[in-house]
Amino acid sequence: MNLLDSLKKLVEWQRVLAAADKVPELERRIALLESRIGEVPKFETCPSCGVGRWHKVKSEPNRTFRKLGGLDVTYGCNHCSYTEVKVET
Ligand SMILES: [Zn+2]
Repeated sequence: MNLLDSLKKLVEWQRVLAAADKVPELERRIALLESRIGEVPKFETCPSCGVGRWHKVKSEPNRTFRKLGGLDVTYGCNHCSYTEVKVET
């Protein structure tokens, strides 16, 4: 084995050691992810795609029910472009 081969082996071995160092960290992250599986999402999901977060986009006075204090509330998805407007009082 010449010097260059020895150096290559050394570099390879250092990579193996570096990867091994990351195992405990990866195990910790996997455990954290596993603990989250089965948890109920803390936000409402989109009624259209079921993936995106369903959130209030904007609200403005309803033209018909303005005097009654009605609001046109627009909800939207951050995953697809689906939106719905609901009249809230
Ligand atoms: Zn969506």
